[in-house]
Amino acid sequence: MARDKVPTLDEFVDGLDKRNPGQPEFIQAVKEVAENVLEYVNDHPKYNEHQILERMAEPDRALSFRVCWQDDEGNIRVNRGYRIQNNNAIGPYKGGIRFHPSVNQSVLKFLAFEQTFKNALTGLPMGGAKGGANLDPKGKSDAEIMRFCQSFITELYRHVGEDVDIPAGDIGVGGREIGYMFGQYKRITNRYVGVLTGKGLEFGGSPIRVEATGYGAVYFMEDMLKRVNEQIDGRICVISGSGNVAQHAVEKVLALGGKPVSLSDSSGFIYDKSGITTEKLAFVKELKNKRRGRIEEYAKEFGAEFHAGQRPWAIAGELAFPCATQNEISGEDAKIMLKNGIIAVAEGANMPSTLDAVRLFHEARIKFAPGKAANAGGVAVSGLEMSQNSARITWKEPELQRLLRDIMQEIHDRCQRYGGVAGDKNYIDYVKGANVAGFVKVADAMIAQGVV
Ligand code: NDP
Repeated sequence: MARDKVPTLDEFVDGLDKRNPGQPEFIQAVKEVAENVLEYVNDHPKYNEHQILERMAEPDRALSFRVCWQDDEGNIRVNRGYRIQNNNAIGPYKGGIRFHPSVNQSVLKFLAFEQTFKNALTGLPMGGAKGGANLDPKGKSDAEIMRFCQSFITELYRHVGEDVDIPAGDIGVGGREIGYMFGQYKRITNRYVGVLTGKGLEFGGSPIRVEATGYGAVYFMEDMLKRVNEQIDGRICVISGSGNVAQHAVEKVLALGGKPVSLSDSSGFIYDKSGITTEKLAFVKELKNKRRGRIEEYAKEFGAEFHAGQRPWAIAGELAFPCATQNEISGEDAKIMLKNGIIAVAEGANMPSTLDAVRLFHEARIKFAPGKAANAGGVAVSGLEMSQNSARITWKEPELQRLLRDIMQEIHDRCQRYGGVAGDKNYIDYVKGANVAGFVKVADAMIAQGVV
């Protein structure tokens, strides 16, 4: 092969910058992976000869389309929809759909890239993709959401399919939206297939899909602590977000004896010193999933503190679960967290910690689980939903609970295998472990399949 020199990180990032102007989130995600992977590639030249990292950082295809719909007043609205199909070396494309005003091509390319590694880590045969639209679902009626979902899938349907690309939910896309999209897909194609995951239990959904991401993040935390003979029981947990992932992180923390004390949304965070209990969590689920209200109402209902426009990272706690969105822990936040005695972070959200924050966590040698490992429980159960749909059966909940627990343990062990740090045998760099383990699996499949 002609190519023998592995690029330096600066050379690699320079090329990336030139090819992807104005895409900071995508560059941030690829740079983080490149830092670990280029080092590994130096010792394993075949990956350099096949230009694997360069190929993985160029999506197979990036689709963008108009989504036209009518609001309740009859006004015509126009949004932009996307699907980024990053890599399908180990299985059909798979990844969520996000409806949020911040959605753009950079955000979705970063998410599709991360998804490729995450899906590989689960051990299931799924490639990486992500999609969405720059819709703000806040304040929209059910009927408006339905019309939007129908219009969105009316274009997207030609690019997806049960053996091609299987979308799921993400921020702003839960059971309601998946239901509307599934209905329209079925109507257009006249086929009843597992084209989307996160479906209702009545029409092909899997038990524990809703819970899986939050539960999985807490399991990953449990495994990191167990490795050094520590536990969640009795520890104060600082959690951000109040959507699907945050709610189920709280639920599992409670089940394991931890004390969750915070939640947030885009308006601010609540701090409940006395702890969020199962009863209070039921209120949050009602508030967020049914009434679609603001987290401030929790503070009023239970006499907790509400801090408008802020994130919860200044709260003194031992375990942190960022479960809202990307870049929600800055370097400054990380410094305060470390000063306050945080001993471990498990990312429920995708890339919630900035590169500065991750560096500080590593330097302080606290346990840090990146989202692509810690939040992979959701897509893992989505993979199991696909299997059940293909076989036209539904597995029982205890079986799925067991599978999720096992998969999270296996992800932890894969990260451990590749995450050793020279000169510090007690420390696991889970970021490096996740990046290299995910890379090797996809890379070997790409090499076997030739230059395509
Ligand atoms: P939800 O839409 O259910 O909840 C998102 C939560 O984050 C809400 O509380 C929302 O507040 C808050 N939030 C969103 N954007 C911002 C922002 N810019 N600033 C502050 N708060 C914000 O989404 P999920 O719980 O499903 O997803 C949360 C994270 O987990 C995302 O990063 C997602 O990619 C990741 N993830 C989700 C998986 C899943 O299975 N659902 C799987 C793997 C990862 P508000 O209500 O005010 O918008």
